[in-house]
Amino acid sequence: MVLDTVTLRVALGVVTLTLFLLFYSSFRRTRSRYSGWWSLALLFFLTGNLALLLHGTPHQAWANPAGNVLLVTGAFSVWAGSRSLRLLGTPRWLFLAGPAFTAVASLLDSPASNTWSGGLAYLGMMTVGIALASRELWLLKPGASQVHRTIAVAAGFMAAYYLCRWVVYLADGPLGPVFRTYFNPAMTSLITLVLLVSVSYSMTALSNEQLINGLSERATRDGLTGLLNRSAFMELATEEVYRLKATGSAGALILADLDHFKALNDLHGHTAGDAAIKAFASACAASVRSTDLVARYGGEEFIILLPGANQESAKIIAGAISRKLMDTDTGLALPTVSYGVAVSTSAHADLAGMISAADAALYEAKALGRNRVVCVGSQSQ
Ligand code: GH3
Ligand code: MG
Ligand code: MG
Repeated sequence: MVLDTVTLRVALGVVTLTLFLLFYSSFRRTRSRYSGWWSLALLFFLTGNLALLLHGTPHQAWANPAGNVLLVTGAFSVWAGSRSLRLLGTPRWLFLAGPAFTAVASLLDSPASNTWSGGLAYLGMMTVGIALASRELWLLKPGASQVHRTIAVAAGFMAAYYLCRWVVYLADGPLGPVFRTYFNPAMTSLITLVLLVSVSYSMTALSNEQLINGLSERATRDGLTGLLNRSAFMELATEEVYRLKATGSAGALILADLDHFKALNDLHGHTAGDAAIKAFASACAASVRSTDLVARYGGEEFIILLPGANQESAKIIAGAISRKLMDTDTGLALPTVSYGVAVSTSAHADLAGMISAADAALYEAKALGRNRVVCVGSQSQ
């Protein structure tokens, strides 16, 4: 059976175009960075293959190097996309190094007469780009599914195939029998076709997974401060208080409210108010341990659960937060803060009981002149 290169390249082009259109519409809807990169990669593969269809025409002189460069850029786009999944950027010079090297090698290798101009550089850079992508996908932190591993293996297989092409090309040349039988452009188009379809299919699952992760992050975080939002806090804190009760451990809850915040808004504007809220959130996050729960409870009110803490340590932490806030340099006078503290004693051992006790203490702190910490049953400055 003789596989016809041109027919397969056209078929690959049609499939790539279809996949590109599907992914691009999904990118426009979801703005998922990875589907954006994948659309771009498909576009490079598509145009690269089209350029290589001009072999044997007067356009070969530019189309051959252009095809090589576009295909290598496609491989490097897959790599950049895989990095974006790990929330890593890709330095522009590193992204462009492979395509630039391929361009120089192809242009210097008589592209008008040589259909394999810069062949070694092209095959080498394809191997490097796809292998790097495979590595990034493999290193991705496992999500709910293992779909990234499937794509990593598919990319790994493709990289291995290109490496074999490179080795055989080096040993045998593009006209050698092994290269012409197993590693010719028609065979490569066929393998690429199968892999593009299967990778694209898995990519949809991966994009959806990323989207769901992003949505659940947004559903549990407060948009302004990045702290937990109220409902996420209630869910996590209910579990934590239940656990504290079951193990007989101590725990403290702090409610904090910025003083005279309305006046700050009125005097300096809403943006300044937002900056103060953010500064307080940062001061909280910097003063607690990773096992503590900090949330924006509402407007300029915050809630903190400190597992293992008693009344004294909760007071120390509240003091530390206020000091940190005062040390913050935001260019405006930051408000003072009032705190109400409740501990998980048997009298109010559940979360709702602790919150209402802390709320009463906070009310008392306000009534006593603000800028202070009040614990349930005792008062202190
Ligand atoms: P007190 O010392 O008694 O707490 O006085 P206060 O002025 O801080 O209390 P009050 O609850 O009357 O005012 C809170 C203000 O916080 C009212 C509201 O406009 C403002 N606020 C709520 N959420 C935000 C926000 O996200 N950004 C800004 N800038 N202001 C907010
Ligand atoms: Mg207030
Ligand atoms: Mg308030």
